Amino acid sequence: MKLARDPQSLAHALAPARRRGAPIGFVPTMGALHEGHQALVQECRNASDFSVVSIFVNPIQFETSDAFRKYPRNPKRDLSVLRSMNVDVAYCPGADVYPADTLVRVTETTVSRLFEGAVRPGHFDGVLTIVAKLFMHVRPSMAFFGEKDFQQIWLIRRMVSEFPFDVRIIGVPTVRDHRTGLACSSRNAFLSGSGRRKAASLNRAMSDALDRAPKLRTADAIALSVVRKLRADGVRVRYAVIVREGDFARVRDRLALNTPYRILAAVTVDGVHLIDNFPLILSPSA
Ligand code: AMP
Repeated sequence: MKLARDPQSLAHALAPARRRGAPIGFVPTMGALHEGHQALVQECRNASDFSVVSIFVNPIQFETSDAFRKYPRNPKRDLSVLRSMNVDVAYCPGADVYPADTLVRVTETTVSRLFEGAVRPGHFDGVLTIVAKLFMHVRPSMAFFGEKDFQQIWLIRRMVSEFPFDVRIIGVPTVRDHRTGLACSSRNAFLSGSGRRKAASLNRAMSDALDRAPKLRTADAIALSVVRKLRADGVRVRYAVIVREGDFARVRDRLALNTPYRILAAVTVDGVHLIDNFPLILSPSA
């Protein structure tokens, strides 16, 4: 595995693949790699001839400099994980991805302001800006993102539909703790033992609501059942909503049959912000 720390050494490491015309698969991450990241890397390895994984803790997507400073980092372990997975290039750029007087950001003007974007203003500008820069450095044919961050992957798909990046965005299903169902996240490292147990109620509340969805029928009733269950478990709810997958519009009334929706929720446990989502589709037999 080659390690590149700036766009020039990345170009050098990618040159053989570019010469061969090999499609490049790319997985952007902020490191502190867990099983969720590894699933993305595995998909990338399976689908592409040449795989690049980036590790960059992106300062401009954090709400506070404190949150950025405290984000978990484990670069040595991350590199050995990537080496053991036979990744071709690890791209670990430095802070100079952003010039000191940086002025330009990529902004989506509607969906980026909702839900995660409302709880964390400016977050998605930061995400889209770094992903756009990394796409320009790596120029991948395929890029892999987790469905765990559903609003994020929706916005990235939207960005590449409006800007000519010529990259296929591939969503990878959420990887969860097999015992509790808690979605893997670098932030889980901040949870106490009791916090972990509380956090697991996010998955339970959403799964229960999905089981009852055919009876509850309206989006608001389904979302409310998630909120009630979480509150009963003593969990602070930031939002629980249902959106139509196609346009990310929030729905509140009766759900149409055979239409893909997502139920999205965010909670705070031990001061840690956690998100999760599930697909929701009602079939005529339900
Ligand atoms: P991050 O390092 O948190 O920026 O995440 C890098 C990529 O890993 C993003 O595309 C995330 O959606 C994805 N990811 C994070 N957690 C999971 C998970 N539990 N399952 C699947 N993908 C994940």
